[in-house]
Amino acid sequence: MSNTKQETIVVDGLALAQDIRKELAEEVSKYAAAGKRVPCLAVVLVGDDPASASYIKGKQRACAQVGMEAIERHLPASSSQEEVIQVVEELNRDDAVDGILVQLPLPKGISPNAVAAAIDPAKDVDALHPNTAGKLLLGNPTIAACTPLGSMEILDRQGIELEGANAVVIGRSNIVGKPISLMLQSRNATVTMCHSKTRNLKEVCQQADVLVAAVGVPRLVKGDWIKPGAAVIDVGVSNIDGKLVGDVDTEGAKGIARIITPHRRGVGPMTITMLLRNTLTAYRERTGE
Ligand code: NAD
Repeated sequence: MSNTKQETIVVDGLALAQDIRKELAEEVSKYAAAGKRVPCLAVVLVGDDPASASYIKGKQRACAQVGMEAIERHLPASSSQEEVIQVVEELNRDDAVDGILVQLPLPKGISPNAVAAAIDPAKDVDALHPNTAGKLLLGNPTIAACTPLGSMEILDRQGIELEGANAVVIGRSNIVGKPISLMLQSRNATVTMCHSKTRNLKEVCQQADVLVAAVGVPRLVKGDWIKPGAAVIDVGVSNIDGKLVGDVDTEGAKGIARIITPHRRGVGPMTITMLLRNTLTAYRERTGE
């Protein structure tokens, strides 16, 4: 056995996101130059949660960066589910709106599933509508969940071979674990989906050529859980005493993994970028451009 340590690439997700945003900006500028309207994302914020407000601002800034339009509908925290759905339906009818994103979490008493189901699937750029999830399951998605899309883009742009690879996904949520498992499977990886009841998680992870951690348990994945040369995508973000920590012990993974995404400047910037890409896709499909 060789004692040579694996050189680990710590992926700069922000730099990658900026590259893709430049590509998107070029596409959008062609429409603007031809005198056409540019793609438009509508964001709906219910209540005054500072974190949600800051996420919305980040998405609006990202739209501006690529030349897309962003409009905001801000409703009071006291709004009823019917009032929120009414706003979503107005945006559905508005021809100048291509994508609709309802910022989660919603105040108590408002069902995120009911609100998501009210979004026109053609404008479902945050991929929360059951039709969007169904299309991914059937293998013909045009729009899909942003964090999984961003993670796949990282794997592709790092040249990670997926066909025939053993992929292990920890976490089975509707927004990350399930969709990324389907995406990896559609690329011919052999996928194992793990969760809180999985036995021998460490041993399962040790078989992974591609390991995706989307859990929310700080540093759950230790260095000795990682197969030498594996590609590791750390989606998890936990706040420990004001410090952000991922699901993977990044330092422990260095010298073992081939690539790893850090919990800061990793998957996060790619998530918003995929929201922009979904909005451009929705615009193209709606306008026939
Ligand atoms: P979730 O809480 O909906 O799902 C967590 C999953 O982890 C569940 O399926 C559960 O079964 C599994 N799990 C919990 N404890 C476990 C354990 N000890 N061992 C194995 N599996 C376990 O979370 P989510 O919405 O999928 O998010 C997961 C993490 O990813 C969170 O930290 C979240 O903040 C982060 N996240 C980051 C981004 C980003 O853009 N960077 C986007 C979405 C989510």
